[in-house]
Amino acid sequence: MSTQNPVFIPGPTNIPDSIRKACDMPTIDHRSPAFARVFKPAIAGVRRVLKMDAGEVILIPSTGTGGWEAAISNTLSPGDTVLAARFGMFSHRWIDMCQRHRIDVEVIEAPWGEGAPLAAIEKALRADKNHQIKAVLATHNETATGVKSDIAGIRRAMDATGHPAMLFVDGVSSIASMPFDFTAWGVDVAVAGSQKGFMLPAGLAILGVSPKAIAAMDTARLPRTFFDFKDMLAAYGRGGYPYTPAVGLIAGLAHAIDLLESEGLDNVYARHHRMAEGVRRAIAGWGMAPYAKFPDLYSDTVTAVKVPEGCNGTDLVQLAATKYGMAFGVGLGEVAGKVFRIGHLGMLTDAMMLSGLAVAEMCMADLGWPVKLGSGVAAAQDYYRGTVPALAIAAE
Ligand SMILES: *Cc1c(COP(=O)(O)O)cnc(C)c1O
Repeated sequence: MSTQNPVFIPGPTNIPDSIRKACDMPTIDHRSPAFARVFKPAIAGVRRVLKMDAGEVILIPSTGTGGWEAAISNTLSPGDTVLAARFGMFSHRWIDMCQRHRIDVEVIEAPWGEGAPLAAIEKALRADKNHQIKAVLATHNETATGVKSDIAGIRRAMDATGHPAMLFVDGVSSIASMPFDFTAWGVDVAVAGSQKGFMLPAGLAILGVSPKAIAAMDTARLPRTFFDFKDMLAAYGRGGYPYTPAVGLIAGLAHAIDLLESEGLDNVYARHHRMAEGVRRAIAGWGMAPYAKFPDLYSDTVTAVKVPEGCNGTDLVQLAATKYGMAFGVGLGEVAGKVFRIGHLGMLTDAMMLSGLAVAEMCMADLGWPVKLGSGVAAAQDYYRGTVPALAIAAE
Protein backbone atom coordinates (compact mmCIF):
# COMPACT_ATOMS: atom_id res chain seq x y z
CA MET A 1 0.00 0.00 0.00
CA SER A 2 1.47 3.36 -0.97
CA THR A 3 0.80 6.15 1.50
CA GLN A 4 0.96 8.58 -1.43
CA ASN A 5 -2.23 7.14 -2.91
CA PRO A 6 -5.64 8.17 -1.66
CA VAL A 7 -7.73 5.38 -0.15
CA PHE A 8 -11.06 4.38 -1.65
CA ILE A 9 -12.35 2.37 1.26
CA PRO A 10 -15.55 3.57 2.92
CA GLY A 11 -13.66 4.60 6.03
CA PRO A 12 -11.24 5.37 7.43
CA THR A 13 -11.03 8.17 4.88
CA ASN A 14 -8.23 10.39 3.60
CA ILE A 15 -7.07 12.89 6.21
CA PRO A 16 -6.45 16.44 4.98
CA ASP A 17 -3.04 17.82 6.04
CA SER A 18 -4.56 20.62 8.08
CA ILE A 19 -6.58 18.11 10.10
CA ARG A 20 -3.48 16.02 10.79
CA LYS A 21 -1.78 19.16 12.04
CA ALA A 22 -4.76 20.14 14.16
CA CYS A 23 -4.63 16.73 15.90
CA ASP A 24 -0.94 17.19 16.66
CA MET A 25 -1.17 18.86 20.06
CA PRO A 26 1.18 19.22 22.97
CA THR A 27 -0.10 17.63 26.17
CA ILE A 28 -2.53 19.82 28.03
CA ASP A 29 -4.07 19.28 31.43
CA HIS A 30 -7.60 18.15 30.68
CA ARG A 31 -8.72 19.45 34.08
CA SER A 32 -7.63 22.98 33.20
CA PRO A 33 -9.59 25.66 31.33
CA ALA A 34 -7.33 25.00 28.32
CA PHE A 35 -9.28 21.81 27.70
CA ALA A 36 -12.66 23.55 27.70
CA ARG A 37 -11.31 25.89 25.03
CA VAL A 38 -10.62 22.87 22.79
CA PHE A 39 -13.70 20.92 23.73
CA LYS A 40 -16.52 23.46 23.54
CA PRO A 41 -16.10 24.39 19.86
CA ALA A 42 -16.07 20.69 18.93
CA ILE A 43 -19.32 20.03 20.79
CA ALA A 44 -20.97 23.13 19.35
CA GLY A 45 -19.79 22.15 15.86
CA VAL A 46 -21.19 18.62 16.04
CA ARG A 47 -24.50 20.10 17.17
CA ARG A 48 -24.61 22.19 13.99
CA VAL A 49 -23.57 19.33 11.70
CA LEU A 50 -26.28 17.07 13.15
CA LYS A 51 -28.80 19.97 13.11
CA MET A 52 -29.71 19.53 16.78
CA ASP A 53 -31.67 22.18 18.58
CA ALA A 54 -32.09 20.25 21.83
CA GLY A 55 -30.33 17.40 23.57
CA GLU A 56 -26.64 16.71 24.07
CA VAL A 57 -23.58 15.87 22.02
CA ILE A 58 -21.39 13.16 23.53
CA LEU A 59 -17.81 12.41 22.43
CA ILE A 60 -16.38 9.10 23.63
CA PRO A 61 -12.87 7.78 22.99
CA SER A 62 -14.07 4.83 20.91
CA THR A 63 -15.32 4.10 17.39
CA GLY A 64 -18.74 3.86 15.77
CA THR A 65 -19.25 0.41 17.29
CA GLY A 66 -18.71 1.87 20.75
CA GLY A 67 -21.26 4.52 19.81
CA TRP A 68 -23.83 1.78 19.16
CA GLU A 69 -23.06 0.21 22.52
CA ALA A 70 -23.38 3.57 24.26
CA ALA A 71 -26.72 4.19 22.55
CA ILE A 72 -28.27 0.96 23.74
CA SER A 73 -26.62 0.57 27.14
CA ASN A 74 -27.70 4.05 28.25
CA THR A 75 -31.31 3.76 27.21
CA LEU A 76 -32.46 0.11 27.44
CA SER A 77 -32.84 -2.75 29.91
CA PRO A 78 -32.31 -6.49 29.43
CA GLY A 79 -35.48 -8.00 27.95
CA ASP A 80 -36.55 -4.77 26.23
CA THR A 81 -37.72 -5.06 22.64
CA VAL A 82 -36.29 -3.07 19.74
CA LEU A 83 -37.29 -3.14 16.08
CA ALA A 84 -34.60 -3.31 13.39
CA ALA A 85 -34.38 -4.16 9.72
CA ARG A 86 -31.44 -6.26 8.50
CA PHE A 87 -30.22 -5.59 4.96
CA GLY A 88 -26.44 -5.68 5.18
CA MET A 89 -23.43 -6.33 7.40
CA PHE A 90 -23.71 -3.15 9.46
CA SER A 91 -27.42 -3.39 10.19
CA HIS A 92 -26.72 -7.03 11.09
CA ARG A 93 -23.91 -6.16 13.50
CA TRP A 94 -26.05 -3.69 15.43
CA ILE A 95 -28.75 -6.33 15.78
CA ASP A 96 -26.13 -8.83 16.95
CA MET A 97 -24.85 -6.38 19.54
CA CYS A 98 -28.36 -5.86 20.92
CA GLN A 99 -28.88 -9.60 21.17
CA ARG A 100 -25.61 -10.00 23.05
CA HIS A 101 -26.97 -7.43 25.50
CA ARG A 102 -30.05 -9.64 25.92
CA ILE A 103 -32.30 -7.23 24.14
CA ASP A 104 -35.13 -8.84 22.26
CA VAL A 105 -34.75 -7.72 18.64
CA GLU A 106 -37.77 -7.90 16.37
CA VAL A 107 -35.89 -8.30 13.09
CA ILE A 108 -37.40 -7.40 9.73
CA GLU A 109 -35.38 -9.23 7.09
CA ALA A 110 -35.01 -7.19 3.91
CA PRO A 111 -33.03 -8.16 0.83
CA TRP A 112 -29.43 -6.92 0.72
CA GLY A 113 -29.38 -4.13 -1.84
CA GLU A 114 -32.56 -2.60 -0.48
CA GLY A 115 -33.02 -0.17 2.40
CA ALA A 116 -35.14 -0.06 5.54
CA PRO A 117 -38.65 -1.19 4.50
CA LEU A 118 -40.97 1.59 5.61
CA ALA A 119 -44.23 -0.30 5.15
CA ALA A 120 -43.00 -3.28 7.17
CA ILE A 121 -41.75 -0.99 9.93
CA GLU A 122 -45.10 0.79 10.07
CA LYS A 123 -46.91 -2.54 10.16
CA ALA A 124 -44.75 -3.84 13.02
CA LEU A 125 -45.33 -0.66 15.02
CA ARG A 126 -49.08 -0.84 14.42
CA ALA A 127 -49.13 -4.45 15.58
CA ASP A 128 -47.33 -3.50 18.79
CA LYS A 129 -50.47 -2.33 20.59
CA ASN A 130 -48.89 -2.45 24.06
CA HIS A 131 -45.87 -0.42 22.99
CA GLN A 132 -43.34 -3.09 23.88
CA ILE A 133 -40.93 -1.74 21.27
CA LYS A 134 -38.67 0.74 23.01
CA ALA A 135 -36.61 1.81 20.02
CA VAL A 136 -36.43 1.54 16.25
CA LEU A 137 -32.86 1.04 15.01
CA ALA A 138 -32.03 2.35 11.56
CA THR A 139 -28.82 2.19 9.55
CA HIS A 140 -28.89 5.41 7.55
CA ASN A 141 -26.25 4.30 5.09
CA GLU A 142 -25.57 0.55 4.80
CA THR A 143 -21.88 0.60 4.04
CA ALA A 144 -21.80 -3.04 2.93
CA THR A 145 -24.19 -2.54 0.03
CA GLY A 146 -24.03 1.20 -0.68
CA VAL A 147 -27.68 1.73 0.18
CA LYS A 148 -29.17 4.73 1.96
CA SER A 149 -32.40 4.54 3.91
CA ASP A 150 -35.13 7.13 4.29
CA ILE A 151 -34.89 8.17 7.94
CA ALA A 152 -37.49 10.93 7.53
CA GLY A 153 -39.79 8.22 6.16
CA ILE A 154 -39.21 6.04 9.23
CA ARG A 155 -40.09 9.00 11.42
CA ARG A 156 -43.29 9.53 9.40
CA ALA A 157 -44.17 5.85 9.81
CA MET A 158 -43.60 6.13 13.57
CA ASP A 159 -45.70 9.27 13.81
CA ALA A 160 -48.46 7.80 11.64
CA THR A 161 -48.90 4.98 14.15
CA GLY A 162 -48.54 7.24 17.19
CA HIS A 163 -45.92 4.82 18.52
CA PRO A 164 -43.75 6.31 21.28
CA ALA A 165 -40.57 4.30 20.51
CA MET A 166 -37.26 6.12 20.27
CA LEU A 167 -35.45 6.35 16.94
CA PHE A 168 -31.76 5.39 16.93
CA VAL A 169 -29.81 6.08 13.75
CA ASP A 170 -26.45 4.69 12.74
CA GLY A 171 -25.05 7.56 10.71
CA VAL A 172 -21.43 6.40 10.85
CA SER A 173 -20.99 6.46 7.06
CA SER A 174 -23.42 9.27 6.28
CA ILE A 175 -23.05 12.04 8.87
CA ALA A 176 -20.96 14.97 7.59
CA SER A 177 -21.16 13.57 4.04
CA MET A 178 -24.87 13.26 3.32
CA PRO A 179 -27.75 15.47 4.56
CA PHE A 180 -28.72 14.63 8.14
CA ASP A 181 -31.39 16.35 10.22
CA PHE A 182 -31.54 15.23 13.84
CA THR A 183 -34.33 17.68 14.70
CA ALA A 184 -36.59 17.36 11.66
CA TRP A 185 -36.32 13.57 11.65
CA GLY A 186 -37.01 13.29 15.37
CA VAL A 187 -33.85 11.28 15.99
CA ASP A 188 -33.23 10.19 19.59
CA VAL A 189 -29.68 8.90 19.25
CA ALA A 190 -27.44 9.53 16.24
CA VAL A 191 -24.13 7.67 16.06
CA ALA A 192 -21.11 8.77 14.04
CA GLY A 193 -17.38 8.04 14.14
CA SER A 194 -14.41 10.31 13.63
CA GLN A 195 -12.82 8.41 10.73
CA LYS A 196 -15.45 8.72 8.01
CA GLY A 197 -17.15 11.99 7.04
CA PHE A 198 -15.24 13.91 9.69
CA MET A 199 -11.94 12.92 7.98
CA LEU A 200 -10.11 12.27 11.28
CA PRO A 201 -8.15 9.27 12.46
CA ALA A 202 -10.29 6.61 14.14
CA GLY A 203 -10.79 7.02 17.87
CA LEU A 204 -13.91 9.04 18.61
CA ALA A 205 -17.51 7.93 18.81
CA ILE A 206 -19.63 11.01 18.15
CA LEU A 207 -23.23 10.94 19.38
CA GLY A 208 -26.24 13.22 19.40
CA VAL A 209 -28.73 12.34 22.14
CA SER A 210 -32.26 13.76 22.44
CA PRO A 211 -33.90 14.85 25.70
CA LYS A 212 -36.17 11.78 25.43
CA ALA A 213 -33.17 9.43 25.23
CA ILE A 214 -31.56 11.22 28.16
CA ALA A 215 -34.75 10.75 30.18
CA ALA A 216 -34.71 7.03 29.27
CA MET A 217 -31.43 6.69 31.20
CA ASP A 218 -33.35 6.98 34.47
CA THR A 219 -34.96 3.57 34.00
CA ALA A 220 -32.42 1.86 31.69
CA ARG A 221 -30.82 -1.03 33.57
CA LEU A 222 -28.20 -2.30 31.13
CA PRO A 223 -24.82 -2.06 32.84
CA ARG A 224 -22.59 0.78 31.71
CA THR A 225 -19.57 2.51 33.17
CA PHE A 226 -17.14 3.74 30.51
CA PHE A 227 -20.05 4.64 28.23
CA ASP A 228 -22.29 6.19 30.89
CA PHE A 229 -23.77 9.42 29.52
CA LYS A 230 -24.64 10.62 33.03
CA ASP A 231 -20.99 10.62 34.12
CA MET A 232 -20.10 12.32 30.88
CA LEU A 233 -22.73 15.03 31.20
CA ALA A 234 -21.91 15.69 34.84
CA ALA A 235 -18.26 16.20 33.90
CA TYR A 236 -19.20 18.36 30.89
CA GLY A 237 -21.07 20.61 33.30
CA ARG A 238 -17.70 21.33 34.93
CA GLY A 239 -16.04 21.88 31.53
CA GLY A 240 -14.29 18.53 31.87
CA TYR A 241 -14.39 14.82 31.29
CA PRO A 242 -14.95 11.75 33.49
CA TYR A 243 -11.64 10.26 32.30
CA THR A 244 -8.79 11.24 30.01
CA PRO A 245 -10.18 12.69 26.79
CA ALA A 246 -8.62 12.17 23.36
CA VAL A 247 -7.60 15.83 23.27
CA GLY A 248 -5.83 15.74 19.91
CA LEU A 249 -8.81 14.14 18.18
CA ILE A 250 -11.18 16.61 19.77
CA ALA A 251 -9.03 19.51 18.56
CA GLY A 252 -8.98 17.88 15.13
CA LEU A 253 -12.75 17.50 15.19
CA ALA A 254 -13.26 21.22 15.81
CA HIS A 255 -10.94 21.95 12.90
CA ALA A 256 -12.64 19.39 10.64
CA ILE A 257 -15.96 21.09 11.29
CA ASP A 258 -14.37 24.47 10.46
CA LEU A 259 -13.29 22.99 7.13
CA LEU A 260 -16.74 21.53 6.43
CA GLU A 261 -18.44 24.79 7.33
CA SER A 262 -16.08 26.97 5.35
CA GLU A 263 -16.93 24.85 2.32
CA GLY A 264 -20.59 25.00 3.43
CA LEU A 265 -22.38 21.83 4.54
CA ASP A 266 -24.72 21.94 1.54
CA ASN A 267 -21.71 22.21 -0.76
CA VAL A 268 -20.09 19.28 1.06
CA TYR A 269 -23.20 17.19 0.42
CA ALA A 270 -23.35 18.35 -3.20
CA ARG A 271 -19.67 17.45 -3.64
CA HIS A 272 -20.28 13.97 -2.28
CA HIS A 273 -23.21 13.55 -4.64
CA ARG A 274 -21.10 14.68 -7.55
CA MET A 275 -18.19 12.36 -6.64
CA ALA A 276 -20.64 9.48 -6.32
CA GLU A 277 -22.37 10.27 -9.59
CA GLY A 278 -19.03 10.25 -11.42
CA VAL A 279 -18.32 6.82 -9.94
CA ARG A 280 -21.73 5.59 -11.07
CA ARG A 281 -21.08 6.88 -14.61
CA ALA A 282 -17.80 4.97 -14.61
CA ILE A 283 -19.54 1.81 -13.45
CA ALA A 284 -22.08 2.14 -16.27
CA GLY A 285 -19.14 2.69 -18.66
CA TRP A 286 -17.76 -0.67 -17.52
CA GLY A 287 -21.11 -2.26 -18.27
CA MET A 288 -21.68 -2.93 -14.58
CA ALA A 289 -24.20 -1.64 -12.04
CA PRO A 290 -24.35 -0.69 -8.37
CA TYR A 291 -25.54 -3.42 -6.02
CA ALA A 292 -28.21 -1.03 -4.66
CA LYS A 293 -31.43 -2.09 -6.35
CA PHE A 294 -32.93 1.31 -7.22
CA PRO A 295 -31.44 4.73 -8.00
CA ASP A 296 -33.20 6.38 -5.05
CA LEU A 297 -31.23 4.02 -2.77
CA TYR A 298 -27.82 4.96 -4.18
CA SER A 299 -25.46 6.07 -1.46
CA ASP A 300 -23.35 9.17 -2.01
CA THR A 301 -20.55 7.84 0.20
CA VAL A 302 -19.93 4.28 -0.98
CA THR A 303 -20.84 2.20 -4.00
CA ALA A 304 -20.81 -1.60 -4.02
CA VAL A 305 -20.09 -2.54 -7.62
CA LYS A 306 -21.68 -5.76 -8.85
CA VAL A 307 -18.96 -7.64 -10.72
CA PRO A 308 -19.62 -9.64 -13.92
CA GLU A 309 -20.43 -13.37 -13.76
CA GLY A 310 -17.32 -15.44 -13.22
CA CYS A 311 -15.37 -12.50 -11.76
CA ASN A 312 -14.46 -12.08 -8.10
CA GLY A 313 -14.50 -8.62 -6.53
CA THR A 314 -12.02 -9.64 -3.84
CA ASP A 315 -9.42 -10.44 -6.55
CA LEU A 316 -9.64 -6.85 -7.74
CA VAL A 317 -9.21 -5.47 -4.23
CA GLN A 318 -6.20 -7.68 -3.58
CA LEU A 319 -4.54 -6.86 -6.88
CA ALA A 320 -5.12 -3.12 -6.42
CA ALA A 321 -3.42 -3.33 -3.02
CA THR A 322 -0.47 -5.51 -4.02
CA LYS A 323 0.27 -4.26 -7.53
CA TYR A 324 -0.80 -0.61 -7.43
CA GLY A 325 -0.76 0.23 -3.71
CA MET A 326 -4.36 1.37 -3.72
CA ALA A 327 -7.15 0.42 -1.32
CA PHE A 328 -10.72 -0.48 -2.26
CA GLY A 329 -13.28 -2.27 -0.10
CA VAL A 330 -14.06 -5.98 -0.36
CA GLY A 331 -17.57 -7.38 -0.35
CA LEU A 332 -18.69 -8.43 3.14
CA GLY A 333 -20.87 -11.34 4.24
CA GLU A 334 -23.53 -12.30 1.75
CA VAL A 335 -21.92 -10.26 -1.04
CA ALA A 336 -18.30 -11.38 -0.51
CA GLY A 337 -16.73 -11.77 -3.96
CA LYS A 338 -19.89 -10.59 -5.70
CA VAL A 339 -19.01 -6.93 -5.30
CA PHE A 340 -16.10 -4.67 -4.61
CA ARG A 341 -16.69 -1.35 -2.94
CA ILE A 342 -15.53 2.11 -3.86
CA GLY A 343 -15.57 4.53 -0.94
CA HIS A 344 -16.14 8.09 -2.11
CA LEU A 345 -16.50 10.00 1.13
CA GLY A 346 -14.44 12.53 2.95
CA MET A 347 -11.81 14.70 1.38
CA LEU A 348 -11.81 13.85 -2.35
CA THR A 349 -11.34 15.83 -5.54
CA ASP A 350 -12.14 14.99 -9.16
CA ALA A 351 -8.47 14.21 -9.76
CA MET A 352 -8.26 11.84 -6.79
CA MET A 353 -11.46 10.07 -7.79
CA LEU A 354 -10.27 9.61 -11.37
CA SER A 355 -7.03 8.05 -10.13
CA GLY A 356 -9.05 5.46 -8.22
CA LEU A 357 -11.25 4.66 -11.19
CA ALA A 358 -8.18 4.36 -13.44
CA VAL A 359 -6.51 1.88 -11.09
CA ALA A 360 -9.72 -0.15 -10.73
CA GLU A 361 -9.81 -0.35 -14.53
CA MET A 362 -6.19 -1.47 -14.77
CA CYS A 363 -6.97 -4.25 -12.30
CA MET A 364 -9.97 -5.33 -14.38
CA ALA A 365 -7.79 -5.51 -17.48
CA ASP A 366 -5.09 -7.42 -15.56
CA LEU A 367 -7.69 -9.90 -14.33
CA GLY A 368 -9.10 -10.38 -17.83
CA TRP A 369 -12.50 -8.91 -16.98
CA PRO A 370 -14.50 -7.89 -20.05
CA VAL A 371 -13.79 -4.17 -19.67
CA LYS A 372 -12.13 -1.80 -22.11
CA LEU A 373 -9.41 0.41 -20.60
CA GLY A 374 -10.63 3.99 -20.37
CA SER A 375 -14.32 3.19 -20.64
CA GLY A 376 -15.21 4.04 -17.07
CA VAL A 377 -12.65 6.79 -16.64
CA ALA A 378 -13.91 8.58 -19.77
CA ALA A 379 -17.51 8.47 -18.54
CA ALA A 380 -16.46 9.95 -15.19
CA GLN A 381 -14.26 12.55 -16.91
CA ASP A 382 -17.16 13.65 -19.08
CA TYR A 383 -19.40 13.98 -16.07
CA TYR A 384 -16.85 15.78 -13.87
CA ARG A 385 -15.69 18.25 -16.53
CA GLY A 386 -19.25 19.26 -17.24
CA THR A 387 -20.26 19.75 -13.60
CA VAL A 388 -17.45 21.68 -11.89
CA PRO A 389 -19.22 24.11 -9.53
CA ALA A 390 -18.78 27.73 -10.69
CA LEU A 391 -17.73 28.71 -7.19
CA ALA A 392 -14.83 26.28 -7.14
CA ILE A 393 -13.36 27.80 -10.29
CA ALA A 394 -13.92 31.38 -9.17
CA ALA A 395 -12.18 30.70 -5.85
CA GLU A 396 -8.85 29.89 -7.51
C1 LIG B 1 -17.88 1.97 9.77
C2 LIG B 1 -19.27 1.71 10.20
C3 LIG B 1 -19.56 1.24 11.49
C4 LIG B 1 -18.51 0.79 12.45
O1 LIG B 1 -17.77 1.82 12.91
P1 LIG B 1 -16.35 1.56 13.60
O2 LIG B 1 -15.90 2.98 13.74
O3 LIG B 1 -15.53 0.74 12.66
O4 LIG B 1 -16.59 0.90 14.89
C5 LIG B 1 -20.88 1.13 11.86
N1 LIG B 1 -21.87 1.42 11.01
C6 LIG B 1 -21.63 1.84 9.77
C7 LIG B 1 -22.79 2.14 8.87
C8 LIG B 1 -20.32 1.99 9.32
O5 LIG B 1 -20.09 2.42 8.07
